[in-house]
This record gives sequence, C-alpha cells and structure tokens, in this order.
Amino acid sequence: MTPTGAQLCYTDAYLRTLDARVASIETADGTNPLLILDQTVFYPGGGGQPADRGIILRTADGRSWTVRAARKIGGEIVHELEPDQGDPPAVGDQVRIDLDWARRLALMRTHTALHALCGVVWRDYGALVTGGNMEPGSGRMDFEFERMSGDLVDAIEASVNAELAVGRDVRVNVLPRDEAFAIPDLIRTKVNLLPEGIEEIRTIEIVGLDLQADGGTHVANTSEVGGIRVTGYESKGRLNKRIRIELVEAIP
Ligand SMILES: [Zn+2]
Repeated sequence: MTPTGAQLCYTDAYLRTLDARVASIETADGTNPLLILDQTVFYPGGGGQPADRGIILRTADGRSWTVRAARKIGGEIVHELEPDQGDPPAVGDQVRIDLDWARRLALMRTHTALHALCGVVWRDYGALVTGGNMEPGSGRMDFEFERMSGDLVDAIEASVNAELAVGRDVRVNVLPRDEAFAIPDLIRTKVNLLPEGIEEIRTIEIVGLDLQADGGTHVANTSEVGGIRVTGYESKGRLNKRIRIELVEAIP
C-alpha cells in the first residue's frame, strides 16, 4: 500500500527543510501526539540508524513544536512530538519542517563510515555482518570474524581511512527485486532481513568498494566522512567480533 506521506529522506538525504501539510494526527490519552504529514524529510530510524529529530513550525502563526523522534507505523512515517507542548497542530495546517541537521549529517557520515568498514572487512577478510548500531559520530559493527586481532583491527582502520580519502561517490539506487537479487553479495548481513514480497530493493553503493541493500541516509562522497578511529574491539563469542569506531575530522 502506498503511504499517504511522501518519504523524501530515501531519495534526497540532503533535504533538511520542507513545506508540508498535516495529513492526520493521533492524540490518544497518555501518549505523545503522532503526526503524519503529506510529505516529510524525517528518517524514521532503522538499519541501526536512529530516527531524526527536529522542529515543525506552523506557517500561519509561527508556532513551533519539537519532534522527538519519527518511526514507521503501517508504512507511514509518523512524527512523535515532545510531550507538554500544548495543543498540537491541526489536520490541514501548513507547516515547515526543520531537521536537526547537525545530528542528521553526523549520522550520515557515521553510516557511510560503517559501510566503508563493512566493505573493507568483506573485501579483505570475507567476513559477514551480524549486526550494527550507531549514534551521531560513533558506531559499532559485529562480524562473523573468527580470527580478528588487534593487528588486523589496526590494518582495517588504515584501509578504511585510505578508502574514505579516495573520495568515492556514494550512490543510491532502487532496483526491481529480481535484478537486485542477481547482484552477488548484495545481502551482506548473515541473515537476509528483507521482508518477503517486497517489490523494490534500495541499494547503497560506495563506488568501487561496497554495494548493499540498505534503507538509511548517507553522504554523497566518502570525502565528507573525514576519517575514522577504531575505539575498541571485543569478542562476542568464538565467531562473532565487534568493532567500535568514531569519526575524526581529519584522517590520521
Ligand atoms: Zn547504510
């Protein structure tokens, strides 16, 4: 089913403000108001990337509300307002969305860095991803990577930084399911997380390094990431190993 609201974060990750109209609102007792807009730039969270935060401002009177998070409910991106902000806007109100852009851009850089990490670990060691998570500026990835060691982690950090510094373009594509599944190694996670029956697959390509099915937001070129530093690694069992990274402004 096509959602009411257009979901622009998937097609233009750099869109940070947008005029929209309130399409529906839910204000059940004891919960924060939930808004659906006719179009939005909020990322609803998923794939280890947290949901966006931001402000919506009513065009008519300049009143604004803080959006504490967004999430997907039944295919719609739903905006959750901070509690105790008085009456929410009404259906039909024209609003202007203003994302917390510093936070979102940090998440885009972090997410792209994690793809570069994933690409290097796959290319050089053939290790599959078993999980991952991020905050603005830092993140972790878990790999099925039995022989990981401190020396390998140092080599991985250097390789990731070298790849980021090359300035590789990052491309978003939406492919029909059959075409997407014909790409070898597209599904890099240990378990294929794509739901049955999905018609189109969105892919993120770091040209020359990494190609994955993915729903998140990323920067357009690896040079925007800066560099990374590995802040830790740990064993989560015989096979599963975790690598933690943080962004650094300049490549060390
Ligand atoms: Zn991603």
